[in-house]
Amino acid sequence: MDVLTAGTALIVVQLCVSLVMAGIFYAAPTETCTRFWALSGVSFAIGVMTVVLNAGAPRPVILVVGNSALILGLVLQWCGIRAFFQKKQARTGWILWLLFIGLFILLLVRNAGVGQRALLSAVFILALLLVNLYEMWTGPGSRSTFARKLTFGSLLLLAVSYSGRVIATTVNMSELLPSSGNPLAVILIYFVPIAGTLLFCNGLLLLYFERVIADKHHLATHDELTGLLNRRALVAGGERELRLAQRMRTPITVALADVDHFKQINDTLGHEAGDRAIIDMARLLKETCRSVDLIGRYGGEEFCLVFPGLDEAAARTVAERLVRTVAAHRFSIGRNVSISIGLASMTPAQGEQDWVQLVRRADQALYAAKQAGRNRYEVSE
Ligand code: GH3
Ligand code: MG
Ligand code: MG
Repeated sequence: MDVLTAGTALIVVQLCVSLVMAGIFYAAPTETCTRFWALSGVSFAIGVMTVVLNAGAPRPVILVVGNSALILGLVLQWCGIRAFFQKKQARTGWILWLLFIGLFILLLVRNAGVGQRALLSAVFILALLLVNLYEMWTGPGSRSTFARKLTFGSLLLLAVSYSGRVIATTVNMSELLPSSGNPLAVILIYFVPIAGTLLFCNGLLLLYFERVIADKHHLATHDELTGLLNRRALVAGGERELRLAQRMRTPITVALADVDHFKQINDTLGHEAGDRAIIDMARLLKETCRSVDLIGRYGGEEFCLVFPGLDEAAARTVAERLVRTVAAHRFSIGRNVSISIGLASMTPAQGEQDWVQLVRRADQALYAAKQAGRNRYEVSE
């Protein structure tokens, strides 16, 4: 395949990818990453177009525009990755871009050969690809998802291709330069970037898709006000833990905790202060429990906690700590608040009990704690 056809194919791929990214940006404008990626594709396409069209008749201005557009494409891609990971935008990319333009103009002024200019472009492209690889590797979240591996692998493919170009240009293998028309050069300069671009952009879209799914799952399973599990997710998790405890013949305890005299807080300080007290309470409960415990908001100012592996004696210690910690805490609403807790434990000897029975027992114990004066816990018999 000749350079013109291969270059045109790369341009078409870049523009199609841009169009898809722009479409996603217009569908969800708050996701600025897709705007950066759409602009990045357009910038690449302009870069490749000017380089291909200009081959054989180099005009300085077009050379500067074309090569700086390629570098700009990578800077924008980098900005998009940072935006995706919700990181602050760094100025380094733009400084590198300006540095590249300065050095490229310098080479033109000094009448440097095409080899030196190609080397400069390849070195900058390689450096930015490595920065993008680093950004992708160190970004938050799991590295083992398919999308993450795909984006990482395709950037690696592009980096290997550009390393080849840097080496080829350094040892002056003129047959591997863009204008040579050599089949190996066409593969290295056009086909590998076509594959890399397609895989990378699909990887970015999959990354985006994975996050949408994760956000949706989080919304469906967590309470909006406190960030704790919502009732549905807590019941599902509690039932799972109960079955596991029965199978492994280990104890488990369920606790219901209700804020004391909460209506008073709402009535005297307002509903908003009540909400803040609920948020503080959720944080306190979370900080006081182990990471394996399940904590959920069961209703208004009522929380449900599941302690896998804790028998009644151990759960008493935890409940005591919870009651004391809450009572000693100065809430952000400027006053102390207390809770009452009802505990229900299941030991292996107690045999089959279901979730509903266990929660009912915890609720009875909670009622007993309220009756006994609040700011305390009671255990179901
Ligand atoms: P007790 O010690 O017996 O539990 O007394 P209490 O005043 O806390 O009584 P109860 O638990 O029945 O009252 C719960 C109140 O919590 C009633 C409701 O107005 C309020 N509430 C429920 N959900 C929310 C919420 O999301 N935000 C706020 N601010 N208030 C809520
Ligand atoms: Mg209450
Ligand atoms: Mg209540």
